[in-house]
Amino acid sequence: MIPVKDARERILERFLALPAERVDIFSALGRVLTEEVIAPFDIPPHDNSAMDGYAVRSADLHGASPETPVMLRVVEALPAGYVSAHTLQTGEAIRIMTGAPIPDGADAIIRVEDTQKDGERVAIFVERPPRFDLRSAGEDVRRGDVVLEKGRTLRPAEIGLLASLGRSFVSVHQRPRMAILATGDELVEVDAPLLPGKIINANSYSLAALTLECGAIPLMLDIARDTKADLEGKLAQAARADLILTSGGVSMGDFDFVKEMLQQSGSEMHFWQVCMKPGKPLAFGSIAGTPLVGLPGNPVSSMVSFEMFVRPALLKMMGHAQIFRTVVSAQLTSDYRKRDERKHFVRVVLCQQEGVNLATLTGEQGSGILSSMAKANGLAVIDESRQLVRTGETVPVMLLDSSLSMSAEREF
Ligand code: AMP
Ligand code: MG
Repeated sequence: MIPVKDARERILERFLALPAERVDIFSALGRVLTEEVIAPFDIPPHDNSAMDGYAVRSADLHGASPETPVMLRVVEALPAGYVSAHTLQTGEAIRIMTGAPIPDGADAIIRVEDTQKDGERVAIFVERPPRFDLRSAGEDVRRGDVVLEKGRTLRPAEIGLLASLGRSFVSVHQRPRMAILATGDELVEVDAPLLPGKIINANSYSLAALTLECGAIPLMLDIARDTKADLEGKLAQAARADLILTSGGVSMGDFDFVKEMLQQSGSEMHFWQVCMKPGKPLAFGSIAGTPLVGLPGNPVSSMVSFEMFVRPALLKMMGHAQIFRTVVSAQLTSDYRKRDERKHFVRVVLCQQEGVNLATLTGEQGSGILSSMAKANGLAVIDESRQLVRTGETVPVMLLDSSLSMSAEREF
């Protein structure tokens, strides 16, 4: 049995970021840039109006007030998207909409609320300095600026920025292809009849969902039966994957052949068994050069092991710098006892009360109790050496929900 930290390091050291590919920006969400994006032009490309109102010469407005308005002649109405052919003269105004380019001769915008239309003329009630309510060319992005660096994760704002620069394609790290193979004679497919002695294959689906959540591509293989021949046949279908994920068959049972597959010639076994609960029977190796993580079969164990070892590896392959989940400190709301010397990952609901993080167990912690995983938004980590953690003691909690806001209980 090796410690969790060592297991994680030994897995991560075997993966590198995948090569680049060009993708359209519709497919780029969550991907990591392999290129520097440089602005080919200014954004905005021209000085334009920040308001719906009137383009004026600021010098015309000296002394303007509600009591002593300045009257200007309205010579044109300019929507966004059009350039005025007129050069504004003293005593003139152009009705202008937000985003329209500033006409020649104008140097300030008066918002419509500070005016009153009077036939062909407009009364202006305020004095304004030059460039008031005017958006300058290049105030967002300047031509030649490095707008996005290599390694940036593309979120919706970055995608919008790429579009505004005229970039419909970008270069990003490839998505890892992950073959997912459930093993077990007891397993039937999700929509097949549940015959006596059988259970439904849940793991392929939870693992595929976890894989998709990371941005990687799950390749679903058919269930492998607990024979070497069937396992071998199914594993042969995974040759094109960057990583093979199996569930089950790595424990001490008479029909646990995944482990044996890693011990055959042409395969490698880097380690087996990690000092954790759930998730002890984890095997890591390779088959015909493709890395294989053999996850335990119990539904919660396979998910927790994925969280600890597989998710960081997938994120590393996708080029992410931040590959680990956020860990916060929280007080346990009940005593927690354990007898073994393994690191425990305990399913909890994390919430904040009066500024204090509280972690409450979601119920039964058996490695087959998937419903208590479904209720959890975090895993509290109980150290190997501990046997009793008392109510109110502070423990690290790994957040499972990346959208989880720690201030959710507060008003803003
Ligand atoms: P194993 O490690 O193969 O002995 O599996 C451990 C436990 O997990 C057994 O009770 C299995 O029935 C259960 N199990 C294994 N694979 C799956 C799966 N794909 N979906 C749901 N339960 C599973
Ligand atoms: Mg099995």
